[in-house]
Amino acid sequence: MSQPATQLGPNFIRNIVDEDLASGKHKTVITRFPPEPNGYLHIGHAKSICLNFGLASHYQGQCHLRFDDTNPVKEEQEYIDAIKTDLSWLGFDWGEHEYHASDYFATLYAYAEKLVVKGLAYVCDLSPEDMREYRGTLTEPGKESPYRSRSREENLDLLQRMRSGEFDTGSRVLRAKIDMASPNLNLRDPILYRILRASHPRTGDDWCIYPMYDFAHGQSDSIEKITHSLCTLEFQDHRPLYDWLCEALEIYHPQQIEFARLNLTYTLMSKRRLLELVNEKHVSGWDDPRMPTLSGMRRRGFSAAAIRTFCTRIGVGKSDSVIDMSVLEDCVREDLDQVAPRAMGVLHPLKVTITNYPEGQAEEFVVARHPKDPSMGMRTIPFSREIYVERDDFMEDPPKKFFRLGPGREVRLRYGYIIRCDEVIKDPVSGEVTELRCTYDAETSGGNLPEGRKKVKGIIHWVSAAHAVPVEVCLYDRLLSVADPAAEKGRDYRELLNEASCEILPQAFVEPSLADAAPGATFQFERLGYFCVDSEDSQPGKLVFNRSVTLRDTWAKLAKE
Ligand code: ATP
Ligand code: MG
Repeated sequence: MSQPATQLGPNFIRNIVDEDLASGKHKTVITRFPPEPNGYLHIGHAKSICLNFGLASHYQGQCHLRFDDTNPVKEEQEYIDAIKTDLSWLGFDWGEHEYHASDYFATLYAYAEKLVVKGLAYVCDLSPEDMREYRGTLTEPGKESPYRSRSREENLDLLQRMRSGEFDTGSRVLRAKIDMASPNLNLRDPILYRILRASHPRTGDDWCIYPMYDFAHGQSDSIEKITHSLCTLEFQDHRPLYDWLCEALEIYHPQQIEFARLNLTYTLMSKRRLLELVNEKHVSGWDDPRMPTLSGMRRRGFSAAAIRTFCTRIGVGKSDSVIDMSVLEDCVREDLDQVAPRAMGVLHPLKVTITNYPEGQAEEFVVARHPKDPSMGMRTIPFSREIYVERDDFMEDPPKKFFRLGPGREVRLRYGYIIRCDEVIKDPVSGEVTELRCTYDAETSGGNLPEGRKKVKGIIHWVSAAHAVPVEVCLYDRLLSVADPAAEKGRDYRELLNEASCEILPQAFVEPSLADAAPGATFQFERLGYFCVDSEDSQPGKLVFNRSVTLRDTWAKLAKE
């Protein structure tokens, strides 16, 4: 199994596994990642993937990819394909160990008959409403179904007729016979099988009864000889049922261990809601760069390595918590700082004419692509009489501490000359500044400062107008405007969407060394942040850049202010 060097930190699950290996309970470690193919993978899944594959690789065991495909109404081939793409991209390889709960439908059905024969399951005809009423509540015990006392023979006959399609959808179910008075609601005769007439992506119309999650999941673990079945804390109350079923069926009994799910501020992690965002067109798709999905993050320019680092950093614990989005963004920044070549781009261009630079003339500055990594080589930056600078880098009436352009003020062009702003041209009607007329100091090329010349404090980025590549830039930001949507009582999460999460700048410019940048390539636009070439919307001759992340945590700064 080839896996990336995931640094799986010490955690309580590793301690359990260490003990199991030391005591001889297990000789090897087999884990699984069991997605339901009803949506795309998100960053929460990445936590589970890094844990399951990380454990397997740490102990030189195996991790299975198992599609938990027991609900054909919501599951689609598109999701199966996307899950595999994302898992491979994240760097994990399940080798030959790809399985499907649907591969086990025949075995699961045989298990169901076995329970019936043992008198441990029965066919129940209560309506869903009655069943809910009979179930009781957390404070009141449930009532036994009148069908609970059916004979084994009658139950077996009814189950076989359910399977052969004799009964209407929803008219009957198979239930485990456990304890209607149990304080654990999951043990109050849970449903094991239901009638559902839906074509399955893999088994077609072979089946008109489908196993419930709790019946399929643990039994699939058992069939695959999973040693440690890791799931999130919500399933703690299901563990007694998991254990009961393995014991009742007298089959191999994996150990279920629960860990805290990942929650992140400023985003959503429920697949149902993410699907709504897609279907209601609040986002452009599952891979919209604002989505917490792996495909969205990839398109946004987050690398697999950054996401793995994040999963290592947050660790694995037993109590639910919410991780700050800035932790993920910091991992992305640290990664991109090392791997992203530098470039200059101007997002809100303001034209500057260097009046003392000859028309038609141009020169080139040759500079490093990366300040710390010489292996990335050099790039060439042309300079000429007309350039663009960032609109923000000019103020008509700047305060003293504004070390950029203003009337009469000097600034250094990054890698280039010192220029002075002599004249400000405005649109006569709107009053908007349309151009600056500046002069350059020919003695100050490439950081040079002649003796006795006054230093300038500010350095700004720029591009040569004649050489720059026009591009579109999308300034993506966090999906939600609030950190914790659950705390916003009574407000629909749609009201909490960050309206400024996608600002499109159709007329930005980048330096010409980026003209042939490949889809997915990431760059640091100096002073601005990290940007990635959009792999969907870029076309030959028209690059679209997505902002991956700003240079610093601007949200923390906003919060302080
Ligand atoms: P649902 O079951 O509601 O469709 P799910 O998020 O549980 O949604 P699955 O496809 O069943 O989705 O999840 C696959 C695996 O990923 C499960 O083992 C689950 O425990 C794990 N997982 C899902 N969400 C998170 C999360 N936020 N943090 C950690 N693990 C998660
Ligand atoms: Mg699930």
